[in-house]
Amino acid sequence: MRIELRNVSKRFDKADVIENLNMVIEDGEFVALLGPSGCGKSTTLLMLAGIYKPTKGDILFDGQIVNEVEPKDRKIGMLFQSYALYPHMTVLENIMFPLKQMKVPKKERVERAKEAAALVKLDHLLDRLPSELSGGQQQRVALARAVVKEPKLLLLDEPLSNLDARLKIEMREEIKRIQQELGITTVMVTHDQEEALTMADRVAIMKDGELVQYSKPLDLYHHPKNYFVAHFIGSPP
Ligand code: ADP
Ligand code: MG
Repeated sequence: MRIELRNVSKRFDKADVIENLNMVIEDGEFVALLGPSGCGKSTTLLMLAGIYKPTKGDILFDGQIVNEVEPKDRKIGMLFQSYALYPHMTVLENIMFPLKQMKVPKKERVERAKEAAALVKLDHLLDRLPSELSGGQQQRVALARAVVKEPKLLLLDEPLSNLDARLKIEMREEIKRIQQELGITTVMVTHDQEEALTMADRVAIMKDGELVQYSKPLDLYHHPKNYFVAHFIGSPP
């Protein structure tokens, strides 16, 4: 799905947290929103999710304005830092849960959940409870649950920040593989430069609610637009 933000602003209280954001995310593209804490990354993601409404401007999915479309009708999958699984449900039941809410028939639910579990390589652990899984495996369950609805847009907010260094690298590759396998348009919020540069097709550098530069990782690295970007990315001087 192609995503467009047109002159999007978001005001909380009396301050514009996002100011005139213009951005296009092409169908199938993996974009990272990268910037220091408080620059408005999560706010942007929540507007794409429909949880926050822009104060000004439009968000378009495949050319259609979706400002008034509820989150549940946006065909999105979400994965956040705290990927709360239901502790009393098995892996299979956790993954099936969104389909149950959508009233998908039981037999199809099981089939689709098993496919999603296979995608994240958990098909041998379907009957386990979350407490019987490692942190990385729990994260995979959350990822399977995010994609089981076959969303057109995957929204990730600092999905790896709770994982240790080794797991981080493993899950980076895993998320990337799944994203490519599904060909799903993906927007990932991160404050980790390396994560953004290694995973994304394009990186949007944000500062104080504005888009400073939006480029492919190598272009950012070799042609930073200003000192802030160069410093933030760690480009060679
Ligand atoms: P980031 O994800 O880049 O760290 P956020 O988008 O979470 O930044 O926040 C950007 C700014 O907006 C911060 O100053 C934050 O305090 C403010 N903010 C975020 N959500 C709300 C809210 N619901 N009400 C008021 N202020 C908010
Ligand atoms: Mg955030």
